Amino acid sequence: MLRLEGVTAGYGPVQALFGVDLAVAPGQVVALMGRNGMGKTTTIRAVMGLAATWGGRVLLEGRDLAGLAPNARARLGLGLVPEGRRCFAPLSVAENLRASARPGPWDRRAVEALFPRLAERRGQRAGTLSGGEQQMLAIARALMTNPRILLLDEATEGLAPAIRGEIWSAITRLKAEGEAILLVDKSVRELLPLADACMVLERGRSVWSGPPAALTPQLAGRYLGLA
Ligand code: ATP
Repeated sequence: MLRLEGVTAGYGPVQALFGVDLAVAPGQVVALMGRNGMGKTTTIRAVMGLAATWGGRVLLEGRDLAGLAPNARARLGLGLVPEGRRCFAPLSVAENLRASARPGPWDRRAVEALFPRLAERRGQRAGTLSGGEQQMLAIARALMTNPRILLLDEATEGLAPAIRGEIWSAITRLKAEGEAILLVDKSVRELLPLADACMVLERGRSVWSGPPAALTPQLAGRYLGLA
């Protein structure tokens, strides 16, 4: 479904990715892992066309995305939930959802069933939602585009434990419904049971990939700084 082959990328003259290989199959949840600053967000941005790719290839269902702008990639089926949960603050929850709607099974009713809080807050301006509610709205907006694959960057960061729990259970339901997801999150304990495969980045390079069960405490210590 989504494949990265030897992707190199950077910001201005500064190289951040030195060869990233990654594959997400249909219905698969892939955890993109690594310590802070190792290139996870840059990888997501390179997939979406938000970071300039210097070399290598990003393929969606076999199609090379080179040269395509982020909105063209979104139309082809990439649903990004960016770090920092950007919503249209002056617009209501309903308007935010409507603005990203494209035909498919994910409509307002479906995303409100996933996040009942959004139904309660339908008429409220997005800018006045809590951080957790804004994150739910950001996920709902990406789903409303009916993507082939969801790209979730730090969806639970900085949120209260109860809300984090709600977001993890929503992601669990998305997995059960067969959504393909590329997931970056620092909460390794929640992330690993959900992941079908893990991919570890170190200094912008793919250094390890495998099923979560193969990520031994030794490897987790070495690559993720976990004791
Ligand atoms: P974190 O978990 O802290 O978000 P990350 O693994 O997502 O880290 P990236 O944000 O992708 O890492 O950063 C990878 C490298 O690129 C880092 O060295 C970082 O300093 C650099 N970098 C990221 N964004 C920019 C930018 N806008 N301009 C210049 N360098 C950047």
